Amino acid sequence: MAEVYLERKENLKKIGFKSYQDYLDSKLWKIIRGEVWRRDHGFCRGCGKKGTEIHHYKYSVKALVGAEPHHLFVVCRDCHSKIEFDENGNKLDLIDAKRKTLCIIGKLKFCRGVSNSRIGYWHRDQINMNKKTKDNIYQKLKALKQ
Ligand SMILES: [Zn+2]
Repeated sequence: MAEVYLERKENLKKIGFKSYQDYLDSKLWKIIRGEVWRRDHGFCRGCGKKGTEIHHYKYSVKALVGAEPHHLFVVCRDCHSKIEFDENGNKLDLIDAKRKTLCIIGKLKFCRGVSNSRIGYWHRDQINMNKKTKDNIYQKLKALKQ
């Protein structure tokens, strides 16, 4: 299993989900997905066409519980494939996929040697979450600390 999925699996376990499908079927994901969709107005952040899915820049616990919505983006299938696969259809490793996210979604002119500080670019994208979402996230984070 690719490194990114092992991390995802481990982090999902920490917040009480058996599998990624279990997570995708959850109320929590529906809330997070809805908020991200609203923020991006349902348009792909790569090309501006109608979005079809959400790309996770990270599968950290915080991203999975919705506390880091700036790591989630609405994308279309084409842009999502471009981010996660190379031109031969091979799955990219974590670092290359992150770099491609920065190129495609960050719309950077220069995509080589992108530094991590560039991630700060997204912090202004924070979602204004409603109270229910915040409470939900708070509960998940609290459960983690026990
Ligand atoms: Zn697109």
